[in-house]
Amino acid sequence: MEHDVLIVGAGLAGTWAAVIAAQQGVRDVAVLSKIHPLRSHSGAAQGGIAAALGNVRPVPGSGPRGPLEATPANAEPADSWELHMFDTIKGSDWLGDQDAIEILVKDALDVLYTYEKMGCVFSRTADGRIAQRRFGGHQAPRANYAADRTGHVLLHTIHEQALRHGVHFYSEWYVMDLIVEENICRGVVAMNVLDGSIHTMRAKAVLFATGGYGRAFQITSNAYANTGDGVAIAYRNGVPLMDMEFVQFHPTGLYRHGILMSEACRGEGGYLLNSAGERFMQNYAADKMELAPRDLVSRSEQTEIDEGRGVMADKQGIYLDLRHLGAERILAKLPEVRQIAIDFVGADPITDLVPIQPTAHYSMGGIPTDVNGRVLANAAGDWVQGFFAAGECACVSVHGANRLGSNSLLEASVFGRRAGYAIAEYVLGGAQQQAVAGDPAEANRQRVHKLFRNEGELAEQILVELRQTMTNKCGIYRTAEKLAEAQREIQGYQERMKTARVMDKSGRFNTDLLAALEAEHLVLFSEAIVAGALARTESRGAHSRVDFKTRDDEQWLKHTLAQRNGRSGLALSYKPVTIDYEKYPPQKRQY
Ligand SMILES: Cc1cc2nc3c(=O)[nH]c(=O)nc-3n(C[C@H](O)[C@H](O)[C@H](O)COP(=O)(O)OP(=O)(O)OC[C@H]3O[C@@H](n4cnc5c(N)ncnc54)[C@H](O)[C@@H]3O)c2cc1C
Repeated sequence: MEHDVLIVGAGLAGTWAAVIAAQQGVRDVAVLSKIHPLRSHSGAAQGGIAAALGNVRPVPGSGPRGPLEATPANAEPADSWELHMFDTIKGSDWLGDQDAIEILVKDALDVLYTYEKMGCVFSRTADGRIAQRRFGGHQAPRANYAADRTGHVLLHTIHEQALRHGVHFYSEWYVMDLIVEENICRGVVAMNVLDGSIHTMRAKAVLFATGGYGRAFQITSNAYANTGDGVAIAYRNGVPLMDMEFVQFHPTGLYRHGILMSEACRGEGGYLLNSAGERFMQNYAADKMELAPRDLVSRSEQTEIDEGRGVMADKQGIYLDLRHLGAERILAKLPEVRQIAIDFVGADPITDLVPIQPTAHYSMGGIPTDVNGRVLANAAGDWVQGFFAAGECACVSVHGANRLGSNSLLEASVFGRRAGYAIAEYVLGGAQQQAVAGDPAEANRQRVHKLFRNEGELAEQILVELRQTMTNKCGIYRTAEKLAEAQREIQGYQERMKTARVMDKSGRFNTDLLAALEAEHLVLFSEAIVAGALARTESRGAHSRVDFKTRDDEQWLKHTLAQRNGRSGLALSYKPVTIDYEKYPPQKRQY
């Protein structure tokens, strides 16, 4: 099987890249997705997509957390890309690459208006402009939204464009492997989930846009599909992974379920309460309160819980209080999150407190790329020719050590689009189909047969244990001792995985088999998260070491690269951060 371009992933990043490559004149663009394209996790995003449009501002005199109004037509714009840039750098705890951040915040304006022109149904201000709300760590209201189903409307909008441009979709095809020989990417190996057949698919260019990996953790907001396949496949094929130790925990996952109660809840004015009914954020971030960035709010919640001020029978929860917002506002702005709270914990936010807890939400790290989506082979910046990555599976890096809410839909759109242009240039510039040595599909068929033949334990059991290890020993607060334990345990899981079996040995729609392949991926790349975290003897952004409480710019203002060394072993190396020391020198990060 052959296409000019193969894009793995049909979320915002992959679909944008496909649309642009096709629009630029690449004839044969195909997208593979292991689930129906419109079920990609991008569609689950609720709160908003950042862009400094400046459409709304706080009502003058009402203070930074007061009500919002449409910015009058003759007034100074209420926001700017410069402010957005500073907030993103500060949010990243200075680990974000500032050249990439500048592109993100500048391109944001054009990307938003492009969505609007494509017909995206945003919520509106009274005078008809795109509505905006506050989000944590942003100085201005700049999360552009469609009620609390923003990702849904963005994904449908860009998917329509892909259909219009004749992009071919392989829906429910599972990519198992990447073909890289002599540092040139030549295609992928994929399984047609419908009949279990495994194929070598060649392409002049391959883009990975496979999304995040929250499923490595026990409590997560992520969809079942977010198992980090692309990250693991790249890693297994010798590509380094960057900054994997930075995993974001969102402050408001539903208690015990982890399902997300959007940051829009706090953006609209929600409170967080401990067992004494106290708005405890006043003790941690007196200025920003509940709208401090996520790493800080999650740590504050965890501290309240650890010190015995949690709620619910086991004292492992915190209350989210939306009651004072009133029924009208909740029904208009937060209808989906209200329904989720009713369905899963039986609490109606209009009348009840909603129990929540921190939940693994977002992977800041991933496959390292340049600002055009080209995948880096090493710290020197060499390119794995023909191989691109964008969206949550990639690490550009705009989020550094901590992502600000609403910057991720933006990143997937901006850098998916840029990768589309870069791919078009590469393919139309004369890139050729490359020969493939051997039979990669056959090698992967053997991988499946082995899972069928094995007589060890079920792969699923190993995964249950991995998730406990990751949540308990590599979670919000970390220590050398716990991380070392996690490291040993993960090595154990990898060993056990070699003899793990699946129950269902049929060919058609074998979800048991897919789950086992995903489990192989999860136990593989988790070692990179833990190794990076153990080595990094400082606290920065989402990485919080109890035994090294402060940020250490002298030693650690650098990106981690984790690379598989041959078949065994993992080697860490480091890469400098791009910083404009004149304009945005590192500062203390306070809110
Ligand atoms: C509940 C929730 C709410 C969120 N809310 C917001 C928000 O309000 N604002 C914001 O900015 N961000 C938000 N985020 C984050 C944001 O949604 C994601 O980071 C972003 O959408 C990722 O887009 P993506 O295109 O990289 O990947 P995804 O949309 O996750 O798509 C991944 C694609 O890869 C495919 N894929 C994966 N593995 C394989 C494989 N092996 N073979 C074939 N296909 C594969 C999948 O089928 C899918 O199509 C939220 C995330 C969650 C979980």
